[in-house]
Amino acid sequence: MLVATVSLPVPLRRGFDYRVAADLAARLRRGCRVRVPFGGRSLVGIVVQAPREAPGAVAELRDIEALLDEEPLIPAELLGLCEWAADYYLHPLGEVLGAAMPGGLRRGEPARVARAECYALTAAGRAALDTLADSRRAQRSLLQALVAGPRARAALDASAAVLRRALDAGWIEPSVAAPSLPRVVAPTPTPEQAAALAQLATDDAGFAVHLLEGVTGSGKTELYLRRIEAALASGRQALLLAPEISLTPQLEARLRERFGDGVHRYHSTLTDKARAQVWLAARDGSARVVIGTRSAVWLPFARLGVIVVDEEHDTSYKQQDGFRYSARDVAILRAKRLDIPVLLGSATPSLESLHNARSGRYRHITLRRRVHAAPPPRVRVLDVRGLPLDHGLSPPLLQAIERHLGDGGQALLFLNRRGYAPVLLCHACGWRAPCTRCDAHLTLHRGRNLLICHHCGAQQPPPRHCPSCGSTGLLAVGAGTERIEQALANRFAQYRVARFDSDRITSHAALERQLADIRAGRAQILVGTQILAKGHDFPGLSLVGIVSADQALYGSDFRAVERMGQLVTQVAGRAGRAGQPGEVWLQTHEPEHPLLQTLARHGYGALCEALLAERRDTGLPPYSHLALLRAESREPTLALRFLQQVRTRVPAGEVTVFEPVPSIMERRGGFARAQLLLQSASRAALHRALAGVVPQIEAWPQARRLRWSVDVDPYDL
Ligand code: ADP
Ligand code: ZN
Ligand code: ZN
Repeated sequence: MLVATVSLPVPLRRGFDYRVAADLAARLRRGCRVRVPFGGRSLVGIVVQAPREAPGAVAELRDIEALLDEEPLIPAELLGLCEWAADYYLHPLGEVLGAAMPGGLRRGEPARVARAECYALTAAGRAALDTLADSRRAQRSLLQALVAGPRARAALDASAAVLRRALDAGWIEPSVAAPSLPRVVAPTPTPEQAAALAQLATDDAGFAVHLLEGVTGSGKTELYLRRIEAALASGRQALLLAPEISLTPQLEARLRERFGDGVHRYHSTLTDKARAQVWLAARDGSARVVIGTRSAVWLPFARLGVIVVDEEHDTSYKQQDGFRYSARDVAILRAKRLDIPVLLGSATPSLESLHNARSGRYRHITLRRRVHAAPPPRVRVLDVRGLPLDHGLSPPLLQAIERHLGDGGQALLFLNRRGYAPVLLCHACGWRAPCTRCDAHLTLHRGRNLLICHHCGAQQPPPRHCPSCGSTGLLAVGAGTERIEQALANRFAQYRVARFDSDRITSHAALERQLADIRAGRAQILVGTQILAKGHDFPGLSLVGIVSADQALYGSDFRAVERMGQLVTQVAGRAGRAGQPGEVWLQTHEPEHPLLQTLARHGYGALCEALLAERRDTGLPPYSHLALLRAESREPTLALRFLQQVRTRVPAGEVTVFEPVPSIMERRGGFARAQLLLQSASRAALHRALAGVVPQIEAWPQARRLRWSVDVDPYDL
């Protein structure tokens, strides 16, 4: 009797054997999807071990119901990568494979490549462009995109409804495929870029990690494009990972300019159908360049030649729930397995990458000059102790804003907190609006007139009276972006304020609109969260104000200061106009803080030196490796007790196993949470310890009474 092993989308770290009928056996190859019975259900799984003669009794095994692919859907290289990741992250392979496939294919839909649709502008469409109202942005931008010639559907940023209306109106028509040609030729490299290219070229042959460090505007993207061009020229494909594509339309536009319609986009807000098409296009090689977020690192490229990770320090590369992987790290491992180069780009590299560059594992390429030379901004620490604060803004900062606006510049205020105020406080009795499900306070959102929990999403209208003492003296304490926006709008009534946070920026179009307002000078003041640190170009910006640098300094998260340094440097990088240095002001109550001083006086590089020394002294990454076992339960103490049991099973030795502790925010979304930290100087020892204990836990009956997970290389503790 023949049996095959199948990986199924269930949270178990093992494969499942099924009987295979003789006529099916030859066609059932590794990487094919099959439908199999599992419990009372029928599931779609991936064959991970082809049929073989079973040594023992197989009577109790069930039969494979159906083979879904004649050719393996998951290419051998991707399957191998997923197996590696399942092992490295101690995560069930079935769920790793699930992350590597778009939903439709995961559910067993046929892997059919849609005929490449293509559209062309009609004469009526051309005429309509002149008469169409400005308000019909979606239609306009669709027609505009076709002016230069027919384009593939995939290259058009239009919804099905928009496309339908344009077809119905006779403005566009289906056309034969005519991949548009690149519209722009590459500029001549600057001397610095030329040197970098020479360094990159020496590794054309195989695997190498290049850390490309350069301030915004120093020409990194141009180098990515060159490197991608080289891969394409040798018949290979290229992958460019970006933190959030919808926030960086400029990057995608530049790829299209250079590489035409061979550029595809892959991210989580696409429909499953659209994702499947890109997935299949990567697999058959027709997608020559893919720009994608985290999950694009799993695309089944036929002939991948280079991977670029833009903004490699960005935290969004790390998946923070379910299968917790780092797309940057997987990208590096994949490049290694494929023996191809990988480029990590950033103005503010992570400490891990800097450390790897220093120790010689990565090649370090530094771009020091901005292409269109604006000198680096002046950073000053502003001591706000004792100063009267107007909604969080001090008089010197307000004066600076006034001065810059008066001189025709623009000002940006950065604050990593959405909403109006983080706390609603009763002045009479001290009551503070709590979340009933989390150990957290509710944030007041004035615009929507709601109290919202930023941790579990719970919301409720703000009370008129204090629920505790009945007083009406409820105060909004602290400032969020909404409050800063209002304060500035009141104070500088003759200027317009544009707010950038996830409450205001709910779509690509909304972002584009606000960016256009800023570039055209229709708005002069920007207020926002980290959205503003994402590579946007603001040519008129001359002043950046960091509303509070303090949050990070007191944070319990060991990466908080690193992240603050990155944010401040990224945001500061937006300041400075044609030849004039920008100004950056950091408001703080701790002006003497040595790390803050280092950042302000000597910049991000010096801050990293200091932080690396600190991490070395405390034995934190990159000087050690960490893994976190997390557990959460409805019952208050169960999670902690569970981890105490786990702890006794981890063999002592090269691994330090800490006492389990409640998470920083112990209660969240109604669950009590706890965590167990493992640390080791040896990656192999850490992995051995986890690999020894995790399968045991999985078999425990008590493990089914709560949620638990493994986080290898956790981002925050
Ligand atoms: P970064 O990615 O580091 O922010 P970019 O590659 O976007 O830098 O370059 C900054 C600006 O300079 C862009 O407008 C780009 O088109 C332009 N640029 C880059 N390299 C050159 C070059 N060699 N010659 C002329 N312009 C260039
Ligand atoms: Zn009260
Ligand atoms: Zn909550």
